[in-house]
Amino acid sequence: MKIKERYVFLECTECKNRNYTTHKRLKAAYKLEKSKYCRFCRKHVPHKEKKL
Ligand SMILES: [Zn+2]
Repeated sequence: MKIKERYVFLECTECKNRNYTTHKRLKAAYKLEKSKYCRFCRKHVPHKEKKL
């Protein structure tokens, strides 16, 4: 059985660049927010989920 997932961007909250893509389950209610390294800001910044 195929698990339904959708792809989302992780967008830097400071420079708004979409640095990462990830996927999550279709019915997941939570919003993804992860601290990731941004090569534009040159530091770790919280990244928020954006739809593709
Ligand atoms: Zn950034």
